[in-house]
Amino acid sequence: MKQRLLFLGPPGAGKGTQAELLCQKERLLHLSTGDLLRAEVAAETSLGKQAALVMNRGELVSDDLVLSMVENRLNERPEGWLLDGFPRNVIQAESLEVLLEKIDQPIELVLFLDVDDELLLERLLARGRPDDTEDVIRHRLDVYREKTAPLTDYYSQRKILKTVKADGNIKAIQRSIEEVLNLMV
Ligand code: AMP
Repeated sequence: MKQRLLFLGPPGAGKGTQAELLCQKERLLHLSTGDLLRAEVAAETSLGKQAALVMNRGELVSDDLVLSMVENRLNERPEGWLLDGFPRNVIQAESLEVLLEKIDQPIELVLFLDVDDELLLERLLARGRPDDTEDVIRHRLDVYREKTAPLTDYYSQRKILKTVKADGNIKAIQRSIEEVLNLMV
């Protein structure tokens, strides 16, 4: 099994849920920048207070901030990892590439979780996170299209991108992901 993975996809694609399942099964470190930021918010750190303002508007927090959070974790040299919600734009992807080259641990596979737009809105509205109101969701989807969606081309050019249709239920999507991973052994 590949040990250094990245989940790419719009908000509501199920990245967090599927990352959780896969990481438990394969003993990978689940590195979710959204989760790390929410932990800061919950702990009411000054970083968390600043980040909450940005997150609740559906904007992206600063590249430097998320990069240093990811760098700190990767510097602990985990055996295997799955990045979820990072990188979110080309600058982050380029910085990540430099960082991973430095530690000689390139990404082995990027899985793009592909979901139709109507379903995304439906799933996000059902989730009920503080940043899941309809206006904020629509804005997050715009930010995704403008800044994050270009990363599918970025990784496709590097020949490490695979697409998984992710509009079924949790189990079905899990099976599709495992199928792709098993084919890539
Ligand atoms: P997520 O849990 O991935 O949906 O992230 C929730 C929110 O955290 C996003 O809407 C952003 O405000 C912020 N966030 C998470 N990851 C990143 C990232 N890599 N770069 C910038 N902001 C992020």
